[in-house]
Amino acid sequence: MRRAKIVCTLGPASDDSETIRELIEAGMSVVRLNASHGTPDERAATVDRVRAVGERVEDPVATMVDISGPEVRTAPTDEPLELSAGEDLRLVEGDVVEADTLGVSTSLSAVEIGDRVLFDDGRIETTVRSVDGEGVVVRVDSGGRLGGRKGVNVPGVDLGLDPVTDADREELRMAAEKGVDFVAASFVGSDEDVYAVNETLESFGADVPVVAKIERADAVENLDAIVAAADGVMVARGDLGVECPLEQVPLIQKRTIRKATTAGIPVITATEMLDSMVHERRPTRAEASDVANAVLDGTDAVMLSAETAVGDHPVRVVETMARIVRDVEASEEYAESREQRVPAAGDTRTDALARSARYLARDVGATAVVAVTESGYTADKVAKYRPSVPVVAVTPEESVRRRLALRWGIQPRCLPFVDEDAAELIERAATESVEAGVAASGDTVVVLAGMMTDLEGPDTTNTLKVHLAAEALAIGRGVSPGRAAGPVFFAPDGDLSDCPDGAVVVLPEPFDDEFAGDLQAVGAVVAADRGTTSLPAVVARELGVPMVGDAALDVAAGTVVTVDGDRGVVYESDITGR
Ligand code: PEP
Repeated sequence: MRRAKIVCTLGPASDDSETIRELIEAGMSVVRLNASHGTPDERAATVDRVRAVGERVEDPVATMVDISGPEVRTAPTDEPLELSAGEDLRLVEGDVVEADTLGVSTSLSAVEIGDRVLFDDGRIETTVRSVDGEGVVVRVDSGGRLGGRKGVNVPGVDLGLDPVTDADREELRMAAEKGVDFVAASFVGSDEDVYAVNETLESFGADVPVVAKIERADAVENLDAIVAAADGVMVARGDLGVECPLEQVPLIQKRTIRKATTAGIPVITATEMLDSMVHERRPTRAEASDVANAVLDGTDAVMLSAETAVGDHPVRVVETMARIVRDVEASEEYAESREQRVPAAGDTRTDALARSARYLARDVGATAVVAVTESGYTADKVAKYRPSVPVVAVTPEESVRRRLALRWGIQPRCLPFVDEDAAELIERAATESVEAGVAASGDTVVVLAGMMTDLEGPDTTNTLKVHLAAEALAIGRGVSPGRAAGPVFFAPDGDLSDCPDGAVVVLPEPFDDEFAGDLQAVGAVVAADRGTTSLPAVVARELGVPMVGDAALDVAAGTVVTVDGDRGVVYESDITGR
């Protein structure tokens, strides 16, 4: 079972329903839609398509709209410019593309002589020679073919651009209307920029988590404040490697992962992870190592960009990435680094309980941690402490289930929280770990529950329980204590003459009859009646066998079940030895 998740950028190579389904089956948990290409309407249609496919598959898939922010791009053109070292080029705001004049999407008037202006992920380098009312003249240092709508970076220069552009606003309106699960915010430089995106979403009536992309030098400087303000971060290594010296990227990546995991927010490691697979069928060794190292550093997710958006074999790339992640996570080295990096307990009660759940699960040999979570808060806290066993998050909210798809180690499941008591909800939540295929009937799980309290606010986790997970066939009330397993024997009129030894005797409601035959054959009783003073209840207690009342058992006669008279639950198969 993989713990680090995979984010895939969709594009012409992958945004049809069939490929989306194949990508999910290969291991994609989050779809990224890049607003630098296409229109908001096209993205809205893709969100609908992803949701429709998501309804037909078991695991949730989240959607993330990546807004462009204050990025600068070259004017659109189908005729690339050929730029040679030593020649001068005038940059003006607008859509002009001529041999010696190039339009860019915003004014660069804030630059000064000597500043560097880089194009197309830094492939073409220029230096500012002069600035006047007409624009900026740059000298080409290293040339090449420069196409339309390519990125323009001016490292270290504040161009004074609005953190949320008009185009972003339209994108955020669409994101709010569609209820997308995440917004990734490009080119943020400070916590203020993150709040500006939050506020715009709020103005559209939406509360969408914002993932701040770390790709500017000032974002690196303001990393602590950004981590405190954002709901997640992305190490966007493409622009980061242009805005900052390339040699600093590996350590910025490590530092960002450490700060985000310590703060307990999700972190995505992005860009060129398996880039050669855009065309090749196999990654390079260096790329395989790159994915492995991000996982070893503790990233929540690894991301694919061109590989899945425009690549030749998007599904194969995801399969390859999933294999690399799984192999690393099965290693001793991974277990060691995870143990060494457990964050200190944060100052909330949920932090303390989630951290305890991690160690408790290890010490009692639990198969899983089950987080019962309405808002996702409790599950987020469990993920923060990176337990060694899978985390099953059980939530009544479909939107929370989707959002948790990004989170390290979490398998989110939806379960309505009906009006029931805490013990019943914990029972049903633990059963979900069996249904999810994470635990087997009879396994021990640690359950952490974040509701059933009249405390205000999100920090309401108040229950940590070591629990037996089993497939519950019927939940009723305990009438006579103890636990016993045996074959089901239906006795609609109380006739026990054919009752096998140690049988679980099932009685209908109403049961007004006397028993006939050998009562010593009765190993346990399950009754539809909820009475504790009924004849079966009195008989069960006299015989000293467990009984569950108020339970309807729908299995074939002879099926072996376990009756737990303490919990009031009938489990599938014989789990008495566990
Ligand atoms: C990046 O720069 O690494 C990135 C993820 O952003 P974009 O793909 O929008 O350039």
